[in-house]
Amino acid sequence: EAFADMNLHTSIMKDIAFHEYTTPTSIQAQAMPVALSGRDLLGCAETGSGKTAAFTIPMIQHCLAQPPIQRGVGPLALVLAPTRELAQQIEKEVKAFSRSLDSFKTAIVVGGTNMAEQRSELRAGVHIVVATPGRFIDHLQQGNTSLSRISFVVLDEADRMLDMGFEPQIREVMQNLPQKHQTLLFSATMPVEIEELAQEYLTNPVRVKV
Ligand code: AMP
Repeated sequence: EAFADMNLHTSIMKDIAFHEYTTPTSIQAQAMPVALSGRDLLGCAETGSGKTAAFTIPMIQHCLAQPPIQRGVGPLALVLAPTRELAQQIEKEVKAFSRSLDSFKTAIVVGGTNMAEQRSELRAGVHIVVATPGRFIDHLQQGNTSLSRISFVVLDEADRMLDMGFEPQIREVMQNLPQKHQTLLFSATMPVEIEELAQEYLTNPVRVKV
């Protein structure tokens, strides 16, 4: 399926063209129509496959269909990633595909950076938060953000997050989300622990593998 057939917002189409993405990669062609349809997704894909755009573009499109963000109210979408470096790459891609949109706001919430700065950014209101699990939970516990408006969640490189011991933090988030939400889980490998996580937190997911 071509990008032009995905009914994407014109601003997103413009940014896709600007970045000279002419043809969707295999994971994009398979995952984007599923994600855009509102269904949960279990994606088996590695870095280099184009998986980041496969979830960031549907996530931005999802946010555009929600009521506006407000100061003091939590984000609309959340991406959890295992490392600061990966979170930064994801944030870059979110910014790339939302650059033509008026006042679209993204926050990056990772360890080793200024907590107070992140807090004021979160409190001001953002569409999307890209975070590492430990730091995101710190902000939740301090009341700097909330899960109350999140309706789109991505667990990226979920196998690595489990390897790094983030399972309790992931569960803390997944168990406290609003009832109505969409979840995309990406993992390079599908060990039994990932299957169990998917079984528990994904609803009738479409499986995609590249
Ligand atoms: P990722 O697997 O998401 O880390 O993406 C790997 C690289 O492929 C990144 O540098 C992307 O900018 C690039 N990329 C992703 N999708 C496309 C596409 N459809 N056309 C060209 N380059 C792409």
